[in-house]
Amino acid sequence: MPQCPEEKKRKFTSREQAMLAAGESGRPDLNSYLCVCGWWHLTKKNSVGRASEQLVQTLRAASEKEFASLVLAELEGKATPDEAAALRSDDLLWRWKQALSTLLVESQQQLNATLDRDDSFTREWRKRRQRWVQQAAARRKEMSLLLRSLQIRRAEERRAGKDARVTPRNRAIDRLINAHQDEFDRLLKEEEGAE
Ligand SMILES: [Zn+2]
Repeated sequence: MPQCPEEKKRKFTSREQAMLAAGESGRPDLNSYLCVCGWWHLTKKNSVGRASEQLVQTLRAASEKEFASLVLAELEGKATPDEAAALRSDDLLWRWKQALSTLLVESQQQLNATLDRDDSFTREWRKRRQRWVQQAAARRKEMSLLLRSLQIRRAEERRAGKDARVTPRNRAIDRLINAHQDEFDRLLKEEEGAE
């Protein structure tokens, strides 16, 4: 695990634990965030907060095309804070990841298809695509941390004796992580090796 850049901050194992502590110490205005060290900390800064449940449900029901256009808007910094938070919610994290992968593959194909063109329009267009690719790389890092946090939370729920498997939603999340365990492990290794 990378070293913590905020070693004096209290460490929490989950967002819920962090927010509980904030409430107990009379600071419900604090936000929580997942640090590169793998723990949750509290901060006064506005961070990506909790998404509204209604938006999460709307996005779950959105078509592939609608969802992809939101993913793209977020990549370009044009999504609302609520939309950005919704993409990072447990329920949409995986869909976001898949949509981003598809977008990247398509962008790369389109970039390859224009290699022999060098007019100003194509150059501009290519620049924009390349920015997406850079932004997408940053999102992938963030996703691997979010997925790791999700896995830690699931493991803790099980340790705490709560039956994390009772809801269809939790069963689906577990299946996703299990189905992509190799990719998850690879991303985690990359992140740990990158520090
Ligand atoms: Zn930290």
